[in-house]
Amino acid sequence: DEPAIKELDASKLTITRATAPRDVPAANSKEATNMKTCTDHMVKVTWTSDAGWHSPVIEQYGPLTMMPIASCLHYATQCFEGMKVYRGYDGKLRLFRPDKNCARLNMSSARVALPQFDTQELEKLMKAFLAIDGPKWLPKSRSGTFLYLRPAIIGNGEEIGVTAPAEVLLFMVAVLWPDFSTPGPGVKPGLKLLASKNDTRAWPGGFGYAKVGANYGPAFVAHMEGRKQGYDQILWLLGPEQHVTEAGASNFFVVWKTKEGALQLVTAPLEGKIILEGVTRGSVLDLARERLVKGSKYITSELGSIEIVERIFTMSELVEASNEGRLVEAFVAGTAYFITPISAINFRDEEFEIPMGDGSCGHYAALLKKWLGDIMYGNVDHEWGVVI
Ligand code: PMP
Repeated sequence: DEPAIKELDASKLTITRATAPRDVPAANSKEATNMKTCTDHMVKVTWTSDAGWHSPVIEQYGPLTMMPIASCLHYATQCFEGMKVYRGYDGKLRLFRPDKNCARLNMSSARVALPQFDTQELEKLMKAFLAIDGPKWLPKSRSGTFLYLRPAIIGNGEEIGVTAPAEVLLFMVAVLWPDFSTPGPGVKPGLKLLASKNDTRAWPGGFGYAKVGANYGPAFVAHMEGRKQGYDQILWLLGPEQHVTEAGASNFFVVWKTKEGALQLVTAPLEGKIILEGVTRGSVLDLARERLVKGSKYITSELGSIEIVERIFTMSELVEASNEGRLVEAFVAGTAYFITPISAINFRDEEFEIPMGDGSCGHYAALLKKWLGDIMYGNVDHEWGVVI
């Protein structure tokens, strides 16, 4: 008889408490902001092709061991997620739409020949993990702040042969993380973007839509070059028509007026599989469609109706809108930078300015940031805010 292949099962979780728990660093200290400090524990689940998902464990945070011929070290058999757990103003811990991240991890996993799992079971493991480390590392006294959660799946078996991994590790850690969406004292608000020149992040038939490590390492060269030139992120353009796709590890939104005078919120489409389907992007679009249309109770006198558009658009359209004074604002949307306005874009060595409303943030970016933040931090009850 073939042995039964087991599904991921959170009810099989065993917990071994850390024997060397550490002190939580002071807020804003180096240890709290250098993105190197993890909480006391981590989740680990092994998968093997003969047995399926083994019993999950939570144990002390610490090194992973693997052989030099582990698949992920050679063939990028790796995928991950980036999400946050929020300490609400009501004292509760919340995840934001964790079902979306779990589903995306499954999709990414399939793209690099890694195994599938029951996404609800992963969500249960996430909650079990945060029930242990959340209260200590994100205490009630730190309402309005968050920890960054990093689930990942790697092919960690000894497999130098060019083949799909037969041994895999799913793990999850929580990291102390600075708040990039709030400029520090003396820091000018708004991100400056450098439009990519010869570098392409994603292409038709590729894997830009999946959250696999192979999309990120190769982008660091352009990113570091941008940094050297004084830019925060790369605005990724695609092809000879220079389609505007994403900015750094965020989705990109622009608000402009069409030549006919219609106000539009525009972002690149999912069709074509060129961009990552951001959870923040989807949430911005959902809220905008629900709240920024005619007849919505959220529309106040200074705030007219706006068309929500997902379509391919080009750098020359953006430049033209800027030259004709039709550009209203632009912002990035993603877990790390949340909703952050863009102040300038460098395209072909020329920098053009992006309006930022009152100078700190455009009207629509501020509104969407407030609406989403209210859900994340429990100022309002909403199904997207999942209490742990
Ligand atoms: N695009 C890319 C390339 C990303 O890495 C991310 C971050 N996951 C995003 C967009 C934004 O996605 P999300 O809103 O789910 O964080």
